[in-house]
Amino acid sequence: MQAEAAKSKRCDCPGCGATLIFAADLQKLRCEYCDAEIEVDKLNKGGDPPPNVVERALTELLNSEAATGYGLPTQALQCKQCGAAISYPDKVTSGKCTFCGSDTVVERAANSQLIRPESLIPFKVTKEQAGAKFSEWVGSLWFRPNNLKAMARVNEIGGVYAPFWTFDAQADTRWSAESGYHYYVTEEFTNSEGKRETRQVQHTRWEPSSGYHTGNYDDLLICASKGLSEALVRVLEPYNTTTQLVGYQSSYLSGWGAEEYAVGPKEAWDKGQQRFEQHEYSACAQQVPGDTHRNLNISMKLSRVTWKHCLLPVYVAAYRYNDKVYRFLVNGETGKVSGEAPYSFWKIFFAVLAVIMLVVLFLSFKQSPSVR
Ligand SMILES: [Zn+2]
Ligand SMILES: [Zn+2]
Repeated sequence: MQAEAAKSKRCDCPGCGATLIFAADLQKLRCEYCDAEIEVDKLNKGGDPPPNVVERALTELLNSEAATGYGLPTQALQCKQCGAAISYPDKVTSGKCTFCGSDTVVERAANSQLIRPESLIPFKVTKEQAGAKFSEWVGSLWFRPNNLKAMARVNEIGGVYAPFWTFDAQADTRWSAESGYHYYVTEEFTNSEGKRETRQVQHTRWEPSSGYHTGNYDDLLICASKGLSEALVRVLEPYNTTTQLVGYQSSYLSGWGAEEYAVGPKEAWDKGQQRFEQHEYSACAQQVPGDTHRNLNISMKLSRVTWKHCLLPVYVAAYRYNDKVYRFLVNGETGKVSGEAPYSFWKIFFAVLAVIMLVVLFLSFKQSPSVR
C-alpha cells in the first residue's frame, strides 16, 4: 500500500518510461534514453503549485512535529567504514561510499523517520566541471606524491546532496567588560653608556563599561553530514541560501543521492546556539570602548527563532593514499573548492636539503677571502 502510493511519485519519462535524471546544466529533468526534457514543476502530479521555502517555528523542531521521509521510494547505502548513509531514489548498483571510497557498504531501507528536507539548492555545477576543478586543484599542489595526479584521473567524483539545518534568530545581548585606556608617562633612566635619558612608558587605566547589542541572523548553516568534516565544509561556504533555495520536490533528487542527516534537530539547535553566541561575542567585543579590554561577559537572549532542513549540493572525490582517506569537495552551486591531500616526505626533505646546501655554499663563499 505504502510502496504503491510512493511509486506514483517516481520520475518516469512520459515518452519512454525510463527514469529521468535532474540535469545540472539544464536545470530540468532529462531522459538519458530519448533525450526528452521536462520541467521539474511539471512532474508535480495533481497540479499542486510548487512548494515554497518555509521557515518553521522552533517548537515544531523540538517537539518532533515536522513531516518526515523523502516523499519517494528510497533505498539507502550505509558505509561501514565512515558511517555515512546516502538515500537514493532508485536502485543503485555502485557499491562504493561517496565520502570515503570504501566498498564496505550495506544496503538498507531509507530511514523514513527523518525530518523531510524543506528546501534545497539544485546542482548548478555539472559533474564534468567538478572533475575539471579537481584536476586543476591537484595540478596546483606543491610537494605532493607523484602518483597523486594519476590517481586523480582514475577516481570518480560524485555529486550528493548534503544535509544542513539553517537557523534564523534575533539575538539581544547585554555585555559588560573592563575598558582599558592607554596613557604615557615620561620616565628617566640611565642608558648603557651611563648617561641619563628619558623615555615614554605605556600604562593602562581600567574602567568598567557595558552595553547592548542586537544581531539579526538569517540562515546560519549547521552541517548535519556524517561523511564530511566540518572544517572542509566551512571552506565551501557560502551557499546562497537566501536567494537560491527552492521548495523541496523529490524529482530534484532523481539521479543523485541525498545523505541522511547524522546531526539531529536537537543537537543542531545546540550547535546553532553556540554559533550565535560566538557571533554575538565578537560583535560585542567590537563595541567595547577604549584602546583594549578584558573580562568581557555576555548574556544573550534569542527570539524569533525559525529553522529549515535543507539539502545543499556537494561533489566529493574521496581517495585513499597509504590507507588514509583524503577528500576533495566542490560546492555544487558556486564551484568553490576545498580539499586535503598528502604531502610527499621525500620532496620536502630534498627541498629542505637543497636550501641548507645553498646556505652553506653561500657562507663558505663569503668567508673564503678571510681564510686566505
Ligand atoms: Zn525517455
Ligand atoms: Zn564511507
